[in-house]
Amino acid sequence: MMGMADDGGLLLPVDIPNVSDRLDEWRGLSYAELAVQVMLPFVDLSETELAGLVNRSYSTFTHPDVTPLVQVGGLHILELFHGPTLAFKDVALQFLGNLFEDTLSRSGRHLNILAATSGDTGSAAISGVRGKSRIRIFVLHPHGRTSPMQALQMTTVLDDNVYNLAVEGTFDDCQTIVKSLFADLDFKGRYELGSVNSINWARLLAQVVYYFYGVLQLQKRTGASQVRVAVPTGNFGDIFAGFVAARMGLPISRLVLATNENDILSRFFNTSDYSLGSVSPTLSPSMDIQIASNFERYLYYRVDEDPSALSAMMSAFSETGRLPVEPLSGTSESLIVAGAGNTQATLDTIRDTYADYNYLLDPHTAVGVTVARTQLNEDEPMLCLATAHPAKFSDAITQAVGEDIAHHPQLDALIGKTTRFEVLPALEEEVRTYVQSHATG
Ligand SMILES: *Cc1c(COP(=O)(O)O)cnc(C)c1O
Repeated sequence: MMGMADDGGLLLPVDIPNVSDRLDEWRGLSYAELAVQVMLPFVDLSETELAGLVNRSYSTFTHPDVTPLVQVGGLHILELFHGPTLAFKDVALQFLGNLFEDTLSRSGRHLNILAATSGDTGSAAISGVRGKSRIRIFVLHPHGRTSPMQALQMTTVLDDNVYNLAVEGTFDDCQTIVKSLFADLDFKGRYELGSVNSINWARLLAQVVYYFYGVLQLQKRTGASQVRVAVPTGNFGDIFAGFVAARMGLPISRLVLATNENDILSRFFNTSDYSLGSVSPTLSPSMDIQIASNFERYLYYRVDEDPSALSAMMSAFSETGRLPVEPLSGTSESLIVAGAGNTQATLDTIRDTYADYNYLLDPHTAVGVTVARTQLNEDEPMLCLATAHPAKFSDAITQAVGEDIAHHPQLDALIGKTTRFEVLPALEEEVRTYVQSHATG
């Protein structure tokens, strides 16, 4: 629950077990059964306890397979968007909510989650912890600056432990306030502040599971010995889970890292240049980042698990804005390959996939599919992670296909529902006072 380590670094397990001798046996398991087996080596819960948490977490998904695999032309799409908020973040955050509640009831403690969101993460986090005992969640979003649907996905949740704070400012203002409250260690400790952002290890662990599920299912269907996986990437959390799965012995030959125009990561993997630019808004807003918060975890393995080498590298980066990394020798042999898909390519991919296969891709998934098509191999089928339901980004779909056809009954049902939120000025003091007077514990 601590998120970042006290020294400012990120947490990782000391050992990542190799499970390749169990894959044949695991190929027949349901999603929930597989989740228990994949996560068990990393948790200090009994198999029965973990199974209880897993079953509760994935019973909120509307598809019996949890993350179904569908074939679209020559590609295989793993649909990760059948959770309560229709984005892949539900896979991790539904589990995290139950895990936190369970951990807190064992220790008798309380937790006040504080988060800033520009859209997707906030609603998935709220859905993960709504109604849970010993937890309250305070989510700051920029008032009037998220999409109306994204705002409704948060503000129509009326559970007593959910506090939506509509801040009169930008997303950056929200983030600055949250960061500065977390930096006040006295305040953080006294109010048991916690975070659910994507650097949380338990979130990543829950994401490792669907790589196993997707790859094993795909092997079952195609008989392939190796699989490629394309991942629309922002903060490097999702693809890092794939990296862990590969280290555990899952036969992934390539992780195809796909970025939009905000391409710092794809530049790194192609030219070893990791230097900051500015963020430009695109059709795939959840991938509009510059510094990818989980990238440091990958670099740890690049420097052969030497924490002091990593620490020196990160300090140099924060001083100069450039990462001093040597190019990998024999780059063609590396697990991660990368590319960028720009706005026009994304729109073309959505339009062509709909025209050819009557299948709608959300703009994030479309970036992944665009880059996946540059990395095809006859013997290794391509698994494309679908990270959001297209109805969440219906404006981009309309722009691509010329008609407003991306809908989902769950989203349509939000229109006109009762909402609850507090409008606050973009001032740290106001948010601090609000949290103080509504915190639990
Ligand atoms: C968060 C998000 C991503 C990016 O995932 P990372 O783990 O940050 O790389 C991609 N697509 C959608 C729809 C998202 O919500």
